[in-house]
Amino acid sequence: MKPIRIVAPPLAANCYLLADEKKALIDVGGDIEFILRAVSKYIDPKELDYVILTHSHYDHAAAAGHFKGLAKIAIHRDEYSLIKAQGFTSFMFGVSFKPFEPDIMLEGGERIELGEINLEVIHTPGHSPGSICLYEPEKRWLFSGDTVFAHGSFGRVDLPGGSARELIKSLEMLSKLDVENLYPGHEDIVEGNASRHIANSLRIAKMFL
Ligand SMILES: [Zn+2]
Repeated sequence: MKPIRIVAPPLAANCYLLADEKKALIDVGGDIEFILRAVSKYIDPKELDYVILTHSHYDHAAAAGHFKGLAKIAIHRDEYSLIKAQGFTSFMFGVSFKPFEPDIMLEGGERIELGEINLEVIHTPGHSPGSICLYEPEKRWLFSGDTVFAHGSFGRVDLPGGSARELIKSLEMLSKLDVENLYPGHEDIVEGNASRHIANSLRIAKMFL
């Protein structure tokens, strides 16, 4: 089974539905009605077990609070303090950010078992302090949020809590993984030999950051 990509408003964030024995949604975007409608095409949203946030930026996470009570919401602990600040930024962009208490506070190193798909949480600060990537070691999939994108691109580091040095360290860590498919937080998915894209991102980040 493959991840189902849902491109969500307001900034075309890639969200991924994993409809395994347990069901997880990685990132949710900022429009609760949109994301529930999109998920409903595949499963009943009530079946969702987890909402896993790669980071707290409003284009990925503003609608997450609406899942409270419906699914367990997981986010890295270093990202949690940013949720309130995100409320303000998203307000400036006309998106309402529903504040929430996470059900699972991640630190990195956890394993989230869904059935056939099992995700390892990797803490990858740089784009934001509590950014995470999720790695499926058997399928060699990487869900990379805004840390690394296809074609040698990588996340910006000029937002609150961002760090060029941390991002390069995170890209170095990711470049050691064997990644077949890359599922980033925006734009193109890479299917096949995605490690090559990550190596390019590291090389270019080292040149420009
Ligand atoms: Zn972001």
